[in-house]
Amino acid sequence: MKTAAHKMSQFKDSIFGVISQLARENQAVNLGQGFPDFDGAQWLKDIVNQKVQEGHGQYAPFMGSLHLREEISSYYKRFYKLVYDPQQEITVTVGATEALYSTLTALLDRDDEVIVLEPFYDSYVASIQLSGAKAVPVTMHAPDFTVDVGELEKAVTSKTKILIINNPHNPTGKVWVREELQQIAHFAQKHDLLVISDEVYEFLLFDGATHIPMATLDGMKERTLTISSAGKTFGLTGWKIGWVCAPEHLSRAVRLVHQYVSFSVSTPMQEAVAEGLKRLEGYVPGFQAQYKEKRDYFYEGMKKLGFTFAIPKGTYFMMVPIANKTTKRDVDYAMELIKNKKVATVPPSSFYLKSKEGEGYLRFCFAKKQETLESALSNLERL
Ligand code: PMP
Ligand code: GLN
Repeated sequence: MKTAAHKMSQFKDSIFGVISQLARENQAVNLGQGFPDFDGAQWLKDIVNQKVQEGHGQYAPFMGSLHLREEISSYYKRFYKLVYDPQQEITVTVGATEALYSTLTALLDRDDEVIVLEPFYDSYVASIQLSGAKAVPVTMHAPDFTVDVGELEKAVTSKTKILIINNPHNPTGKVWVREELQQIAHFAQKHDLLVISDEVYEFLLFDGATHIPMATLDGMKERTLTISSAGKTFGLTGWKIGWVCAPEHLSRAVRLVHQYVSFSVSTPMQEAVAEGLKRLEGYVPGFQAQYKEKRDYFYEGMKKLGFTFAIPKGTYFMMVPIANKTTKRDVDYAMELIKNKKVATVPPSSFYLKSKEGEGYLRFCFAKKQETLESALSNLERL
């Protein structure tokens, strides 16, 4: 009997699905997979109902509804003074996951190399491998999760084509500051690399942190493909509307892949997200305040339980050191917490290819209802 492709042997089930399944089986409070356990903005849900009723029942243009592309272009201009032409430079995808896949597929030839900063979001490496290319990890070292330029230099070869950065960063909650971005930008220019900048948490910022898109740095717009997603910004991860903004010649290649991967994305959802983006200025402060309250509550609770770490400035994740709690590595400790304490977290070692640093941490997602966070803390108190 014929079997699946040999290349499939390098893949396993994503850690997020595995942990959510284990959480269900063990009736554990799920602070693992990154999604809110409450629904996003009601006003946006009302708009989607209206859009469904109005029509919008047929395929959108394959590169995305013009209305949405115009609103994406408009917010990049309003928030970051970045100019993207909605006709040629913006492509709407099935979430950031498809954006990443279509982008990497469009840019990579077999045996090309991609520098990924670890810990990384798991789909980067999978998408790279599906192109027959190679992910080359460079570690963001704990506790500040900084990148050493010397290590970047060591990782680069004549085959290196792309560097992927995620800002704000999942799983650490780090918001990269200008000097750090500048270093990466210099490095990319020196070695003539393209940069994929995954900015899905661009609006999840706390304590006055600012998001600096990589494409705003001098000389970077022409070599950067910026990816984002409405799922995070509107707390509706199931809507799966994402996008890629890139210079025209790169956009063209991304669109050619996208047209065969998904062709086009749910039309009424795109129309609703376009309306959402129009209202970002009014929406974002309340959104940030809502998540800040959750972050502060959970951080204080974790501190009382004896976990010590710096409070994250962005995203809805905390990367929590476990060395003062256990001698176990992350995977085993995560299993112990699920089974015995009924709290599910993500063991971050699955976000590393090279370093063992992830074994000393667990990732907690605090995008949860107050009662969920309370139950998790009270279960953990029985440690
Ligand atoms: N990038 C990062 C860093 C993420 O955390 C996620 C998922 N939460 C994605 C991309 C994928 O986003 P989407 O759900 O829009 O596909
Ligand atoms: N991005 C989410 C996380 O980091 C999960 C998305 C998924 O399950 N693929 O947990």
